[in-house]
Amino acid sequence: MITTRFAPSPTGHLHIGGLRTALYSYLHARANNGKFLLRIEDTDIKRNSKEALHGILEAFKWANLEYDEPTLYQSKRTHIYQDYAKKLLESNKAYYCYLSQEELQTIRENRNENHAKLTRKYRDFKGEIPTNIKPSVRIKAPLQGEISFIDGVRGKISFKSSEIDDFVILRSDGMPTYNFVVAIDDALSGITDLLRGDDHISNTPKQIVVYEALGFEIPKFYHIPMICNEKGQKLSKRDGALSVLEYREAGILPEALLNFLFRLGYSHGDKEVFSMEEMLECFHAEKINNKASACNFSKLYWLNSEHIKSLDDERLCELLDLPELQNLIKDSKSRTSILLSEVKTRVNNLCDFKKDVLEILYAPSNRDLDQDKKESAYDKAMLDKLFTPQHKEILTNSLTSFAKHIESNANNTKENYKILINEFAKDLSNIKPSLFMQSLRLALLGKKGGIDLGACVFIIGYKETQERIEKFLDYLSRYKQA
Ligand code: GLU
Repeated sequence: MITTRFAPSPTGHLHIGGLRTALYSYLHARANNGKFLLRIEDTDIKRNSKEALHGILEAFKWANLEYDEPTLYQSKRTHIYQDYAKKLLESNKAYYCYLSQEELQTIRENRNENHAKLTRKYRDFKGEIPTNIKPSVRIKAPLQGEISFIDGVRGKISFKSSEIDDFVILRSDGMPTYNFVVAIDDALSGITDLLRGDDHISNTPKQIVVYEALGFEIPKFYHIPMICNEKGQKLSKRDGALSVLEYREAGILPEALLNFLFRLGYSHGDKEVFSMEEMLECFHAEKINNKASACNFSKLYWLNSEHIKSLDDERLCELLDLPELQNLIKDSKSRTSILLSEVKTRVNNLCDFKKDVLEILYAPSNRDLDQDKKESAYDKAMLDKLFTPQHKEILTNSLTSFAKHIESNANNTKENYKILINEFAKDLSNIKPSLFMQSLRLALLGKKGGIDLGACVFIIGYKETQERIEKFLDYLSRYKQA
């Protein structure tokens, strides 16, 4: 059975690169009826933080990539790693190293081809062992030949054994090191296929040394190229790269972010919009692009608008989480449904969705109780443009008679209201229909643009329509032209 994992370190936010690795690992497992596991690599006590861990778990939950089995925390498994180190010592595959701090410093400063050799001073050492040094434990890496593996994305990757040092597996304080614990955990969790960022390629030969020393089966590796900006440079915050949770705050849907990340590094013909089912259907880890992918965030917003359009009402209400909508649902499901479908086609994120919904459900005059803001609830530029001395009276009278006209047409449909408004506007003899329509829009929504007016009247109802017109005319009577 194919088993994959995602293994974040809780040293910072979960970024989009990490989420893409998680997604590909998830897809590879699920598409093959396998298992997908989550492991927290929290051995770096100095750099770990609780907030980072919570953030990662929350982002993961939001992205809805379900994983199997309880989450593994490396910090709780020190004794397991120590036991394996002991086994290696007993089988002479590892040894105690008594290099002094000064010697280690020299090795660090002389990173040349002799480096690996210098680390091996105490390998099969026959001389006198220093007594004043607390030893670390080093693993015996092969002295000759190559360490190579077939990467599922990049093909064969080889390292000369002479470049791989006898690296430390247990520090002198008894704490295990990164490559040692990663290899042990992957092996014990039965990871068969290991997908991760290509910044980990240089760790792979070391992990292979551990697998071989412990007689574990080596998994198949897939090293995924980085995500870069449109200039081909490392992606940064300046390019719009945010942590996963910041995308949530920006009103991005998890399915849109996953779709976006899926396409950054994977293609399936010209297709751009993918549901999770579609991603699962077409994903093959071998087909992950082997070149870095350039990130274009305007595409994310376009994908988001596409995914917003296909959300059903129930999920949308849940995501918008507005008590106002709950009330409207109780009152009339069909009005809620029209409201959602009208706004759906106009926005590319959930924040604007909320804003638009609230702007429809609250009369401009009621939007803010603060008097100053109340005054500005109507778009001033539009007001000045429409209600010129020449047109003010005609428009005021037209709106007044429209308010009466609408009453006799109560209980209408969106389409009928639309016809009614159009016909009413067309029948006005002394003003262009478009000017009336704009003034009605200003009275009902307070601004230029927005949803279809027929839909608006249907959603808010004829009574509220009348009230909004009345309040607007009242406001207008006190309004002084600039
Ligand atoms: N913990 C590593 C990271 O956050 C991932 C290690 C791995 O996937 O092997 O980059």
